[in-house]
Amino acid sequence: MQGPISDLVLLTLLVLFFGLQQWRRPQADFLFWFAGWIFILLGYLVWALDEAHASASSLQNAVCFDFVLMGVLAFVLSVTAKEYGVRLAVLSGLAVGPLAMAMVNVQDFMAVPRAALGLWVVLGQCVVLVLAYRLLSQRTPRRRMLTLGLGAAYGLGLLAYVLLTPATYLDNAVMMEALLCAAAVFGSAQRKDGHSVLEWTTRLGFVAWAVFYLLSVVPGVPGWLQHGLNDFWNFPKYFVGCSMILYVLEEAAEDKARAAETFRDLYEDFRLLFDTHPHPMWICTAEGGQILTANETALKQYGYTMAEFQGLRIADLEVLPDSEAEDMETMLGSQAEGGVRERHRHKDGHVVWVNRAEREIDYLGQKARLVIARNITERLKLDRELSFRAQHDALTGLPNRQLLEERLDQCLQACRVEERRAAVLTIDVDHFKLINDTYGHLVGDECLKEVAARLKSKIRKVDTIARTGGEEFTAVVSGLSKASDAEKVAASLMRVFEAPVELAFGALGVTVSVGVAVYPDDATDATTLRRLSDEAMYRAKRAGRNRAAYSSEKGALLDFKKPEIELKPEHP
Ligand code: GH3
Ligand code: MG
Ligand code: MG
Repeated sequence: MQGPISDLVLLTLLVLFFGLQQWRRPQADFLFWFAGWIFILLGYLVWALDEAHASASSLQNAVCFDFVLMGVLAFVLSVTAKEYGVRLAVLSGLAVGPLAMAMVNVQDFMAVPRAALGLWVVLGQCVVLVLAYRLLSQRTPRRRMLTLGLGAAYGLGLLAYVLLTPATYLDNAVMMEALLCAAAVFGSAQRKDGHSVLEWTTRLGFVAWAVFYLLSVVPGVPGWLQHGLNDFWNFPKYFVGCSMILYVLEEAAEDKARAAETFRDLYEDFRLLFDTHPHPMWICTAEGGQILTANETALKQYGYTMAEFQGLRIADLEVLPDSEAEDMETMLGSQAEGGVRERHRHKDGHVVWVNRAEREIDYLGQKARLVIARNITERLKLDRELSFRAQHDALTGLPNRQLLEERLDQCLQACRVEERRAAVLTIDVDHFKLINDTYGHLVGDECLKEVAARLKSKIRKVDTIARTGGEEFTAVVSGLSKASDAEKVAASLMRVFEAPVELAFGALGVTVSVGVAVYPDDATDATTLRRLSDEAMYRAKRAGRNRAAYSSEKGALLDFKKPEIELKPEHP
């Protein structure tokens, strides 16, 4: 009883080990090893029952033998599983298993004609050779042919054994073949980079296992050897088992080493990319943004040493939002592409605009942020310039019609909320064509610039004066408390032309005609207000120019030449 029980315990331990291994790191080849040891354990269980009941039946013997044979086949097919997948390995098992099993068992239960048995052997051998040919694809052609030659020779021997003798120990011969096959193919798929010592010891174990099956039936083996065999016949099996365990452990250790190496390579690649990146980059703690490391570009551009950087937080580089930031936001919106637009101060104090993008990473085992800050100062300057050009007139630098319309809409919205007045004033230079025709376009341009400058000088920063036509300007003035305040604005705008315009060639008398419309007194929408102020301007023209007129609805007319209106240099 002692023998079978210790076998059952050891085999259970083997099964447990490979089960755990499969659970933690599933691998096709080790799955077949696991299955193999389960079969062998089952075989021994049946054998133990046999022993326990001391009633050896040929059925029990056959089942026990079959289980062990299936276990060994599983070891052989572990190579197929690793190389070609579990499905093909299972299919191969279904092709070879029944052939082998039938060969092992058939004689126990019936008388089979020799010729049929021979045919069976030839068929089985052919299947084995074909499979072995595929399995040995990793070997050199010479070794492959040698192994296949030995396989064929064994097959011929088996055929002769079946045809020429009663073939009493055919089961042992088949088991030996399975074990020799396991020895031949073992490791051919597991390791591509050479053969380890463990591979050879495992093979040796399989061969020894096969030899015990041989010696146990060879007639004339001396008694002492037979006796010894009984004591030692289990050893090869556990030799194989231990080698397999070590093999698994060795592979796990190698995987770990490979992973560490891959990590090291990746880290080095990352560091190279980080250090040579053309934009400043930092790694900082996820909480608090304490800088852990910075790349070369950050050191060079920001002027801090690594040690100085490591004493800073990312927030220490940022400049708090102010009116400049607000202006930028109004002009370009708050969202920068793929990040946040903000300003950073360099060590020497100068401030740059950056686009900061970041993402969470694991850095040396802690949660961190990888921050990249692209200097966008130059690009923003260009954007600002383009945006200014799109909204301003090139000759006078005043807002153009498009910007005026935007500002008028904003102004009316604010007036609606604050319940205040606003005035739209259309200002057209009188007889400008004459200036052009008399002095030429260049003088005309120079004159327009001066006109624009004078008008602008009378308009507050919060209000707008735009060039809306060739020699036509429009002012939007908000915050008027009563409609008559608009008169004062019109008067002050006309008053700036009391003095002649000084041009390069000499002084030039310029007058303007102004049309005025007031929100909400004359109209409440931008289009009507502009139309009314335009019409009023033409009324002023018709009335003789150099004067202001209110919107046609009101019909009032303001003649600048008539001094009954008190003129103040600045409007309220
Ligand atoms: P009115 O008093 O009726 O407004 O007479 P006007 O001559 O000012 O009016 P009109 O609309 O007939 O002429 C405007 C002129 O302004 C015609 C055009 O050549 C000139 N002009 C328009 N834009 C420019 C410019 O950018 N530069 C120069 N030099 N002249 C311009
Ligand atoms: Mg004109
Ligand atoms: Mg005009």
